[in-house]
Amino acid sequence: MIDWTPIKNAIRDAKQIVLLPHIYADGDALGSAGALALFLQDQGKQVTIAVEEAVQDKLSFLTSKANLHFALPEEVVPGADLAIAVDVSDYARLGSRKPLFDQARVQARIDHHGVSGDFATITVCNPEWAATAEGIYGLLCEMDASWTVPIAICVYTGLVTDTGCFAYSNVRPETLRVAAAMLEVARDLSWIYRETFENKTKSCIALTAAAYGKTEYEDAGRIAYLRLEAKDYADAGATDEDSEGFSAMLRAIQGVHVSIFVRDGRENGQYRISLRSDEACDVAKVAGEFGGGGHARAAGITYISDKGETFTQFKTRLITRLKECMEA
Ligand code: AMP
Ligand code: MN
Ligand code: MN
Repeated sequence: MIDWTPIKNAIRDAKQIVLLPHIYADGDALGSAGALALFLQDQGKQVTIAVEEAVQDKLSFLTSKANLHFALPEEVVPGADLAIAVDVSDYARLGSRKPLFDQARVQARIDHHGVSGDFATITVCNPEWAATAEGIYGLLCEMDASWTVPIAICVYTGLVTDTGCFAYSNVRPETLRVAAAMLEVARDLSWIYRETFENKTKSCIALTAAAYGKTEYEDAGRIAYLRLEAKDYADAGATDEDSEGFSAMLRAIQGVHVSIFVRDGRENGQYRISLRSDEACDVAKVAGEFGGGGHARAAGITYISDKGETFTQFKTRLITRLKECMEA
């Protein structure tokens, strides 16, 4: 049983509330924050969702269809009564918005990551939830929310995106019950699948072709490795958003148990590494050893090259650990 009491009390005592999804916000981070914002507004609270970067095009329906505003950090004044980090596993994933979190009177976090840092005063984190949105649904039920179509759109978006359209092993009977409840409210939500998983840009297709061409195999084909550089994106006319599904795409190759997808990070010498796996390996555990985190089947690492280690040496170290993990 989840103890919602501390967060319910914190909400009751707050007038101004800031919601903080993780950096590079995905459908779950934005959908969860969106559902919570709509509910809190209905309760008469002043709510701001502060995002790190502009919302991805494919999630822009959250603005148009769920009437949400996602504020960039410079639009937001610190000092809310309550800050809630949503789908944020680690303090570092607040990015430049740490002051918005730290300078609030109360700090809370609602999340579903298994490997995570304890950085809030009030934490509700359940790794059994397929998406943070599943937890938000629970909180809204606890608080007797009136269900509306925009709230249903937000919750469903979180579920659809974090479960690969209800395909991954994180889906529980309860996940489908929540989805069913949202479908009862909104009637038609199939368009959310089309918006988030189909609807691929031509530049995404060009980048996909390059990606398959550059995919390497390690460990007798059990590991797929892909590194895309700025030039690959430029040649395809692609953006970061165009490569969102690539880690899952590599994991889907026959015989592959673990995929590694490497992109450039925000700063020079920084790398963003996405890991996906099947039951052969707990990639959250391996990611944790490298300062990252996530879920057993989907995790990530931010690697900053220093201490004299080259990226190639790091790559070897990571692949070695993943192989050991699969053998264990
Ligand atoms: P991604 O590969 O970026 O889709 O991330 C997969 C999962 O790993 C998500 O649940 C992220 O929250 C988590 N994750 C990604 N990068 C990091 C990181 N640098 N540190 C901790 N968790 C991460
Ligand atoms: Mn997320
Ligand atoms: Mn999530």
